[in-house]
Amino acid sequence: MKIVVQKFGGTSVATPERRSLLIDKVKKAIDRGELPVVVVSAMGRKGDPYATDTLLSQINPKLKTEQPRSVDMLMSCGEIISSVVTSSEMLMKGINAIPLTGGQAGIITDENFMEADFITVDTENIKSLLKEGKVPVIAGFQGRTKKWDITTIGRGGSDVTASLIGAYLKADRVEIYTDVDGILTSDPNIVPNASLIKTISYEESFQFAYEGAKVIHPRAVEIAQNHNLPLLIKNTLSNSEGTLINNDIYLDKKRIITGIASKSDRVQVTVEYEGDESYYSMFTILGEHDISLDLINVFPKQKIFTIDSDKLTQLKEIFNNMNLKFEYKKNCCKIALIGAGMRGTPGVMARILTALTREKIEVLQTADSHNTIWCLVNEKDRDKSIIALHKEFQL
Ligand code: ADP
Ligand code: MG
Repeated sequence: MKIVVQKFGGTSVATPERRSLLIDKVKKAIDRGELPVVVVSAMGRKGDPYATDTLLSQINPKLKTEQPRSVDMLMSCGEIISSVVTSSEMLMKGINAIPLTGGQAGIITDENFMEADFITVDTENIKSLLKEGKVPVIAGFQGRTKKWDITTIGRGGSDVTASLIGAYLKADRVEIYTDVDGILTSDPNIVPNASLIKTISYEESFQFAYEGAKVIHPRAVEIAQNHNLPLLIKNTLSNSEGTLINNDIYLDKKRIITGIASKSDRVQVTVEYEGDESYYSMFTILGEHDISLDLINVFPKQKIFTIDSDKLTQLKEIFNNMNLKFEYKKNCCKIALIGAGMRGTPGVMARILTALTREKIEVLQTADSHNTIWCLVNEKDRDKSIIALHKEFQL
């Protein structure tokens, strides 16, 4: 029998009404003769009683550095509550469900608390539950160390749990249920008429997720790709067909631009290079401090790049110690246009710049790769820029 992993995000488990829609999706899989394995996130979003951020607000933030192991014990509770509540409602509706923590589901991680990476998945427990005719309801976003300490695997981690379980169970596919119809050509909060991307390759969807489209976690795409596991992103609230992510790149290449993503809170840094070799060590030192740079432009007398705003204090300290002359511009937004078809299509950058200039938007920097073009703009111009580009490429 085909195993299908069904992951439900925070809004899909938030209320009894939503959970009954969830249960309908599980029932449908059973009716099709498939073996569902369910993965759930914590209920709701910040402010809701058991959402991860609400739990975190109960403790002193210092605990994150002083005893991250405790933070993980607390953060894991949201998903555990969700798995018990969801599976109990499934039981009441005649589904033989059983809740599992990430550790009980066999997800073994390293000891890097709060951002743990998986080592392996021991599927023995899940497999024997499936043999008994049960439906495992797994708490997402968590695992356990070899010493049985609870770990969490980073924000958006339930998507990663679903891909991992799917990969190690050799599932037919993973279905990611959320509150939108699938991957859209842009964030619907910015472009309300964004359209659904029906199929997309692992490569493009990874890029999309990595550049800020929060609908799927990039690591979940990566794991699925490594195991050739199809991912289907669907809406809990509708019967939309959703977005299929697989390794078929045919459609990608037919589209010049597949979609637009963005990342806010970027800082553009300009460093004067005074003629010594210090900028070589500057890049090395920033790397050693875990400050990742992008949109790097190297000129004979100047280097320009962007960083995340929460690394600015650290960067200022490092540069002042090195006696480097530098300037920075806060409140920037990095917009990424993704599309495998842009390769070998002339004039794409020109169209982007024309569309932005027409709207009197100041472009602070650009860069491109084989499937992505980035534009840095002022945060205040984010929505206007994305809407203009969405229109220009008729997405
Ligand atoms: P879940 O809690 O189900 O994991 P998320 O909030 O993580 O849901 O992801 C879904 C949200 O991602 C959507 O509600 C939407 O606001 C946002 N989003 C951002 N970019 C996109 C995009 N390109 N396509 C679809 N959704 C997007
Ligand atoms: Mg998510």
